[in-house]
Amino acid sequence: MKYIDEYRDAGLAQSIAQAIRARVTRPWVLMEICGGQTHAIMRYGLDELLPPEIELVHGPGCPVCVAPLEIIDKALSIAARPEVIFVSYGDMLRVPGSQTDLFRVKAAGGDVRIAYSPMDAVKLARENPSRQVVFFGIGFETTAPANAMAVWQAKQEGLRNFSMLAAHVLVPPAMRAILGSPACRVQGLIAPGHVCAVMGWREYQDLAHEFRLPVVIGGFEPVDLLEAIRLLVAQLEEGRAEVENQYVRSVTREGNQAAQRIMAKVFEVCDQKWRGIGAIPASGYRIRREFADYDAERIFGTDQITAEEPKECISALVLQGLKKPADCAAFGARCTPESPLGAPMVSSEGVCAAHYAYRRRAPRIEEGCRP
Ligand code: SF4
Repeated sequence: MKYIDEYRDAGLAQSIAQAIRARVTRPWVLMEICGGQTHAIMRYGLDELLPPEIELVHGPGCPVCVAPLEIIDKALSIAARPEVIFVSYGDMLRVPGSQTDLFRVKAAGGDVRIAYSPMDAVKLARENPSRQVVFFGIGFETTAPANAMAVWQAKQEGLRNFSMLAAHVLVPPAMRAILGSPACRVQGLIAPGHVCAVMGWREYQDLAHEFRLPVVIGGFEPVDLLEAIRLLVAQLEEGRAEVENQYVRSVTREGNQAAQRIMAKVFEVCDQKWRGIGAIPASGYRIRREFADYDAERIFGTDQITAEEPKECISALVLQGLKKPADCAAFGARCTPESPLGAPMVSSEGVCAAHYAYRRRAPRIEEGCRP
């Protein structure tokens, strides 16, 4: 496939890895923030191409994984209502809540449907005027523009039977919390290319300056990631702490301003809970008061629902880069993709799922692997 093959070129990947080996003189700990990047690293065995001085740790960039248990419980309580058509991305259906999950609610008679876009839910609301259609709007800055557009469109059309259970999270405030922890060992960041395609990378300049660490905006293919690591290692070895943009084919400094405008119309910044980590100030979006008629939390009165995270799951430590999935006693035993205890084992971007899937039979970039 043109424009993908060159970013999966085994010879080019090997030459970048060789350049990293030639440049590195001491140990460095680097974090890739995004779950998609984590999966590419594990899938192609990129960590095994690197010299032993480079340690990669995984960040909190899987939106399903960081969704707090209580938002799952709120979704479950709404989805079980007879008047509701509950619409969600497929990843969320197997994420365990305190007692059950959306698949089981569906099996018990709940009208739970999978969609690829929030506009599908708006269409369902048009077609089913006697039902309440609720879209589960979770994700990072990447999915927020489409979700904002769906709410805005529903209001424009005067739809009274569409609402959104919104739980958006923002990357820079979470990274500030993680980097500010005394336990944090991270010395360089691979920032998420898709988030920066929407938001630009100005916020990452503040992070680089505040924590005196280099940041490289990275893509998602093997060559993207190795090049981002090469740029980080060069900065670290030279004592620089700047933002560089490896993912220039998609990211500009200003980002997608049309997307930012629709988000600002519909959402406002709020404190947000992250799974296992707890509340992080100004790290999420909620629906603005002007769109309150489309806010499922307000319509269904779920704001009193709270939940306790299961103690056995150490995903909070994994998502902060403080532990690896294999450090969890439940990994691969009590917790598997077929029987997950925590969201990181469920999601297609989950770090535990990546370790489980690719550490058993990993294709390697030098084998010329293909999707
Ligand atoms: S292996 Fe399972 S229980 Fe352990 S941290 Fe990952 S999701 Fe949680």
